[in-house]
Amino acid sequence: MTRVEVPPDSLFGPDNLPYGVYVPRGTDHRTGARVCTRLGDHIIDLSVALNDPDFASRDLNTFLARGPRRWREVREQLRELVDRDIHVEAIHRPAEVELLLPVRIADYVDFYASIDHATNLGRLFRPDSEPLLPNWRHLPVGYHGRSGTVVVSGTDIVRPRGQRRTDSGAPDFGPSRRLDIEAELGFVIGVGSELGTSIDTAEFADHVFGVALVNDWSARDIQAWEYQPLGPFLGKSFATSLAGWVTPLAALDSARVPLPDQVPEPLPYLRESEKWGLDIELTVRWNGQVVSHPPYSRMYWSPAQMLAHLTANGAATRTGDLYASGTISGPAPDQRGSFIELSWGGSEPVTLDGDTRTFLEDGDEVVITASAPGPGRRRIGLGEVRGRIRPVHESR
Ligand code: MN
Repeated sequence: MTRVEVPPDSLFGPDNLPYGVYVPRGTDHRTGARVCTRLGDHIIDLSVALNDPDFASRDLNTFLARGPRRWREVREQLRELVDRDIHVEAIHRPAEVELLLPVRIADYVDFYASIDHATNLGRLFRPDSEPLLPNWRHLPVGYHGRSGTVVVSGTDIVRPRGQRRTDSGAPDFGPSRRLDIEAELGFVIGVGSELGTSIDTAEFADHVFGVALVNDWSARDIQAWEYQPLGPFLGKSFATSLAGWVTPLAALDSARVPLPDQVPEPLPYLRESEKWGLDIELTVRWNGQVVSHPPYSRMYWSPAQMLAHLTANGAATRTGDLYASGTISGPAPDQRGSFIELSWGGSEPVTLDGDTRTFLEDGDEVVITASAPGPGRRRIGLGEVRGRIRPVHESR
């Protein structure tokens, strides 16, 4: 038994305690995976440290389905663990383990909740009309994505192929030339809801367990040709990257901030007694260089409003559902959460260490990190979502 020392400035201090799934490097993913938390510079195996069979699992779903009372109990147990000796067999160094997809994703929805992002994309895609379409301030616009292609941070992304419009107006077929990122925050549902019922904004915490960083890779040339009239399809569905850590909402109490004003006031089912967002600051690195700091605090639609809307028609939700915020962008150029915005449609290249870029080249790596205020002056880290672009001909 031993104590884990936590550096005082760690982003993974005793106020954070996120959940992930790991295997020791070289171990079989099907049999060797266990639920873990991160404390300082260590990975703690919860199946050993808490001696709880729910955590001898290759995903968080069993634990998520237990519901808010159990989530609180386990968080209390973890906080007690911080001040106790922990079984040495439960303690690993991050370099010795591989983080797996933490959640078996059920359904995946992606929203479009940043007013600055929606305005920028409206200007780029439809330069001759109002940037925001008439519905935008009345509902959180979204679409259903492809849950089977949600991959864990660190997974290489094969450049997608598809139809691209050419100068003649007719399409051709080939690798995307405008491959992009979308820096987003994802919400993980722990307790689902019955078909034919809706989740009120006030019931958010009964259902949503926590958050994780998302990179919603997007092929803008494929997207621009295919998206009307039914919305995103193959320009998005080839891969979506999810961070290895799910941060419970309970760790983000100090990060709650009031939402910016909504005008006009939304319909009653989207109203909240106290609308809140999260003061999460993201950082986007492109080949190691910081290119943007998207602020989640600026989002127009709240997490509870997005969930209320996605169930407003009576659609059921399930343990492991993931819904993401949509690209997080702020009003300043260095707060844009996609490269189509940073390079303004490819017309203003981004300078990277002696190199320039508009969209992603083969071999490029993007890493999105984030942190939020914790109690006192400490900060909570959300880990990272990382991905490198592989040329399409290398694909297996
Ligand atoms: Mn997106």
